[in-house]
Amino acid sequence: MPLPYSAPKRVLTVAPMPPEKLAYALARYSRSPDSIRHSLDWVRTHDSAKFLESFYFQYGHASIADLGHVTICFEGVSELAATEIEDEQLWDGQARSSRYQDFSKAEAILPPEFTAHEARLYATSTEALLNAYRDVQRRMQAFLEDSLPRPDDMKPDAYRRNLTARAFDVARYLLPFGIPTGVGQVTSIRTLEKQVRRLLASEFQELREIANELVQACALPPDCGLEASAAEAIAPTLARHADADERATHLRADLTEWAKDHLPAPIEESPKSVDLTQPSDPLADICATLLFPVTDRSYRELYECARSWPIARKKDLLDLATGGSKRRGELPRQFRGAPYVFDFVMDIGAYRDMHRHRRCQQLRQQYTHKLGYETPAAVAQCGAEQVFADALRHANAAIEKLPQPGAQYLLPLAARSRFLFKMDFAEVDYISRLRSGVKGHFSYRKIAWEMKQALEQQDPVLGALIEATPPWIEDPLKR
Ligand SMILES: Cc1cc2nc3c(=O)[nH]c(=O)nc-3n(C[C@H](O)[C@H](O)[C@H](O)COP(=O)(O)OP(=O)(O)OC[C@H]3O[C@@H](n4cnc5c(N)ncnc54)[C@H](O)[C@@H]3O)c2cc1C
Repeated sequence: MPLPYSAPKRVLTVAPMPPEKLAYALARYSRSPDSIRHSLDWVRTHDSAKFLESFYFQYGHASIADLGHVTICFEGVSELAATEIEDEQLWDGQARSSRYQDFSKAEAILPPEFTAHEARLYATSTEALLNAYRDVQRRMQAFLEDSLPRPDDMKPDAYRRNLTARAFDVARYLLPFGIPTGVGQVTSIRTLEKQVRRLLASEFQELREIANELVQACALPPDCGLEASAAEAIAPTLARHADADERATHLRADLTEWAKDHLPAPIEESPKSVDLTQPSDPLADICATLLFPVTDRSYRELYECARSWPIARKKDLLDLATGGSKRRGELPRQFRGAPYVFDFVMDIGAYRDMHRHRRCQQLRQQYTHKLGYETPAAVAQCGAEQVFADALRHANAAIEKLPQPGAQYLLPLAARSRFLFKMDFAEVDYISRLRSGVKGHFSYRKIAWEMKQALEQQDPVLGALIEATPPWIEDPLKR
């Protein structure tokens, strides 16, 4: 219903504008009695860079940068790089799907740190994996067409699409982590600044190069979109200030050394795919979480170890992590906690999907081939056991010969690695319910189902509240 003629408008929408300008307009708006229309007029005639320089960068009013948002796409980046790009909690975005696109059409991204000899070994090894990927995909497609006839009420196009997606789901285990993909993200310029600083300090050269491109792009008008030609630079002030998060680099090196000097011999045990701890000792939880990403040990082992330490040793580790009396700024994410701590040993493909959940705290260990590989049951059903096993064996041999960190690009998505997810009960319920559903990929469906089982074992009342779908309930024709 139209408003009466004289009624003042209470809801005003604002057209897209450069994010730094928008942040300035909304920050001014919060500090003046004027309508937003006046603040928009104001920023047209005043320098937003000057405002952000003083309030955001000098006085540390970081929340001002939450007010300007920007859309950025990353094309032709490796799956490994895409995962690092997405590793922000206040991040919205999507990545290309290995379920709907044939990832074997493009060559794997070459880690720029490799020598010519390493690059040749990498190129032949990724090509071998992609050949096996195509082979498994073809066999799986043929097997599904034979074993799952099209229901009368399903259109031929939809039937073929579903079977192709299912075949890609099986073949994806053989994709190397260096396979190219695309990511589209929408973030505030505050998150963008954090992301740039984190990526500039990455151990992977590809990511440091992407971060430099990102900084250059922020100083220019947008590359595409309706207003691209007439538009102003996206985030020129941020671009001028972007520098690497050296503190994160030093922290990682220091913690690695500390772990070598202080941890006892590791406990030999076969890893569990889902191990749930409810830590009752917050100090031991922080100590264990600090050490988790720089070791290959389980959270449980580190937590039990930290609980047994004298207080002086725990304090020593905390001082190292916080910089003691020189501490500046926010504590790193290792200091964040939640009541349910899940230690997952899962394949990298499953992690790519689970990683996108933002309402939790996540940390990972180095991606590795040392925890073995997942082989989906469907591989044997479609007669691809030998192809699959040979492909993984050859990849393994090449990975052993390549230096770190580049060797991680050759890991097939089937490779198991260790990840830490901390969350509250509502997020356990959300992830377990959403990710165990029949539309999901079977790799993470199993993990999501085991999350409910683990919780139910420790707390039958809360566990029973989670309506997860067991992995044996399947509907391959549902997407
Ligand atoms: C079957 C399936 C297929 C998928 N395919 C793809 C794909 O091809 N490509 C792809 O990129 N993704 C894909 N996804 C992932 C999906 O797009 C989401 O990224 C993923 O499910 C995580 O987002 P979420 O909002 O569901 O959950 P969460 O991130 O766990 O968030 C849950 C809720 O919390 C809110 N929230 C988020 N962050 C915060 C915060 N910091 N504070 C408070 N609340 C917050 C969210 O808005 C949401 O309402 C797929 C998901 C499914 C289930």
